[in-house]
Amino acid sequence: MELSLTQRDQQVIWHPYTQHKNMVPPIPVSKAEGALLFDEKGNSYIDAISSWWVNIHGHAHPYIAEKIYEQAKKLEHVIFTGFTHEPAVQLAERLLNILPGNFSKIFYSDNGSTAVEVAIKMAIQFWKNEAAVGRRLSVVRKKILAFKNSYHGDTFGAMSVSERSIFTFPFNEYLFEVVFIDTPSAENIEELTKIINTHGNEIACFIYEPLLQAAGGMLMYEAKYLDKLLDELKKKNIICIADEVMTGFYRTGKFFASGYLQNKPDIICLSKGLTGGTMALGVTAASQKIFDAFISDDKSKTFFHGHSFTANPIACAASLASLDLTEKEDCFNQVKNIENQNNNFAAHLTSHISHLTIKNVRSLGTILAFEIISGNDSYLNSISASITKQALQKGIYIRPLGNTVYILPPYCITDNQLSTVYSFLLDIIMTNEK
Ligand SMILES: *Cc1c(COP(=O)(O)O)cnc(C)c1O
Repeated sequence: MELSLTQRDQQVIWHPYTQHKNMVPPIPVSKAEGALLFDEKGNSYIDAISSWWVNIHGHAHPYIAEKIYEQAKKLEHVIFTGFTHEPAVQLAERLLNILPGNFSKIFYSDNGSTAVEVAIKMAIQFWKNEAAVGRRLSVVRKKILAFKNSYHGDTFGAMSVSERSIFTFPFNEYLFEVVFIDTPSAENIEELTKIINTHGNEIACFIYEPLLQAAGGMLMYEAKYLDKLLDELKKKNIICIADEVMTGFYRTGKFFASGYLQNKPDIICLSKGLTGGTMALGVTAASQKIFDAFISDDKSKTFFHGHSFTANPIACAASLASLDLTEKEDCFNQVKNIENQNNNFAAHLTSHISHLTIKNVRSLGTILAFEIISGNDSYLNSISASITKQALQKGIYIRPLGNTVYILPPYCITDNQLSTVYSFLLDIIMTNEK
């Protein structure tokens, strides 16, 4: 008897973030278009979380597909040391024009985690290189600062700067030491300022997800206080690394979340929406000051980092195509439309909140989130799996983080599709009514 795709999958595939014991069999997706995923039987699902936060213009976009095809016929890949190519240079030129801050150089890698690894390695080596030549700043700074509840990826350096959690638990003793502080607020900003004033000269770098801690539970915090914290960090010459892997390209309503802030980062990390969610590509952009610390007659000052597929031309072409679409007014209007509707829906929920078993309704740009009050707030909560299952039955795909229910759709989602998603959210809220 012929095996189904799901059965063949279960014989050979190990899935990410999946406990394979008693797992729900994966759904074979045979094609996708716009915000819709289609399974083998022709059922459709609204991809309300943009396929793990990467998709922005919709699936299998014909314009991006065409540009990928054209590039694949011309130059699919070439080693990126000793050689260069048009898509990599053009993408760097365009990104440097739009990035929030004074960046001079683009370093390519493969995904969000590698973009973060590169950023941290740049920051650590910056201080070593500076000290070695006795330049401006002669002490090697070693401390690394990050936020509680942060998530910066799954490789070791990225895990190290992330909150110790169920995700990192087996590896905690192998992760390097990081100082974790609370996200800034009216209540703690003075205390945080004091910490930076006292210990700032020992801190090499600070990494942060601006305004939105995504994997940490779609936690939102205010630009005003982050700006105040960044003021203090800048005074102490601490290298500020904005991880905009998730927040870039309009996800939070502005082109970059750093656009909400006065203080711009020294290093910024991008991935996910960078290629419109079509191909794997990471970018770490650095300021002139960072880059200059690596320029030397002494070869040991070189940044010895690179991946086989650095600046893959097809991925860069996909990214250029996605930028073309993102820079159109249409895209901006789609984002503002989702933002308005999310705000209205959030206001509606909030006005009824005393009757509902949900809390912390919040929205930012294309992201809407709330918690289901369940008495068990852990990530391993079974509510998530149950909501995903109910959603699929309604032709919607969402994947709550524990009891945190959220949506962040591709910008091309139609008003009808969006209202289908809101209705579903109301349904699950109402079945849990007090
Ligand atoms: C997803 C994510 C990463 C990791 O990116 P991958 O491409 O999954 O390795 C890093 N930082 C943030 C803020 C993310 O949301």
